[in-house]
Amino acid sequence: MDRRTFIALAGTGLVGTLLDGCGGGGGSSTGNPVATALDGHHTDGQDGDSTQPPATGGSAPATGGSGKSRVIVIGGGMAGATVAKYLRLWGDAVDVTLIEQQPTYTACIMSSLVLTGQRTLANQTYNYDTLRSRYGINTVFDEVVSIDPVATTVTLASGGTLAADRIVMAPGIEFDVVPGLGTSNKMPHAWKAGPQTTLLASQLNAMQPGGVVIVTVPMAPYRCPPGPYERACLLADWLQANKPGSKLIVLDANPDFVVEKPNFSSAFSSLYGGIIEYHANAEVTQVDPATMTLTTAAGTIRGDVVNLIPRQRAGALVTKMGLNNATGGRFAGVDVLSYASTVPGAGTVHIIGDSCATTPCMFKPDQRGTVGSPLR
Ligand SMILES: Cc1cc2nc3c(=O)[nH]c(=O)nc-3n(C[C@H](O)[C@H](O)[C@H](O)COP(=O)(O)OP(=O)(O)OC[C@H]3O[C@@H](n4cnc5c(N)ncnc54)[C@H](O)[C@@H]3O)c2cc1C
Repeated sequence: MDRRTFIALAGTGLVGTLLDGCGGGGGSSTGNPVATALDGHHTDGQDGDSTQPPATGGSAPATGGSGKSRVIVIGGGMAGATVAKYLRLWGDAVDVTLIEQQPTYTACIMSSLVLTGQRTLANQTYNYDTLRSRYGINTVFDEVVSIDPVATTVTLASGGTLAADRIVMAPGIEFDVVPGLGTSNKMPHAWKAGPQTTLLASQLNAMQPGGVVIVTVPMAPYRCPPGPYERACLLADWLQANKPGSKLIVLDANPDFVVEKPNFSSAFSSLYGGIIEYHANAEVTQVDPATMTLTTAAGTIRGDVVNLIPRQRAGALVTKMGLNNATGGRFAGVDVLSYASTVPGAGTVHIIGDSCATTPCMFKPDQRGTVGSPLR
């Protein structure tokens, strides 16, 4: 997509929908949106800018005085980094400050290939140098602990307060607590790419041939609906080659495949028929990491490796600020043209990416009318 088309879409509020082409949408495996937003500045030395150190500090907080409109973007993931870049491409009239709690970003897209050894976590990691140097975005590496939609200010964990004309929130997702899991890391989700991804990869590598791997699919809506089924296919392929005699059990909390049923059911039953066992209506209600056992609506089951992907909701800041007014309180309701919050009095706050309730990727099941609750 060229810039003119993008900006035209941005003007109609469709930018948010471009950020989440997970599988069936625009992104899929053909491209990595964050690589576009951050211009592929890997921290693993695989691009031309690898000598730049990771970003460590912020600059020019949104304090006003320049005569420009000021936008604060909270969260430098796929959604936040992309909107920050394209706001600046609109011209020099907007001062953009991106606040991100981590100095580097680890992309989920293609992170399942880390499990099979085809990519490394370093391949997935980007810094924010290009957003600063090429697009003139101010970066602040800090956690936002609260926002004031009326004064249009944000407060940082380090104590400072920044003001703007508009706030864009893009804090991603949070996971539900799984009863019995506690602080155990024996059943990683690997659904936010990072240490959990390498942990799951090492557990798979250490498993004996003939072992049982379990992948759970949470109740929709969740981040990247095709993702768990894609991961199951990828792992089945890897098990076939590397751990002969192993089995992969998919426990789906939903009554059926959430997306792309013809593709995935065919792959599960034909390509990987001897390896994958699929169970619908099998929501995990309790786990015991000591015995690697899962209690589900369809019975109790034990695995040697358990990829437990919990149910999801909007990023914690959205819930903390009471902006989670859609999908039974799980996600943020927004005006689909402007992505402004639909919470009364919060119209200067826009919520994009996986935190909001318009994301087609996250909400395909609702739109299809088969799974989950109404959009609003
Ligand atoms: C295995 C897997 C494969 C996927 N494959 C694809 C694919 O092929 N194509 C595709 O389009 N999508 C894919 N996705 C989905 C995609 O990764 C998400 O839709 C996307 O990351 C959502 O972007 P986001 O910016 O909303 O959230 P995130 O990318 O999670 O970014 C949120 C950011 O906000 C920051 N943050 C949170 N709270 C605060 C705070 N209080 N203060 C400051 N910063 C904060 C976080 O540190 C984080 O950097 C995949 C996902 C998974 C798990």
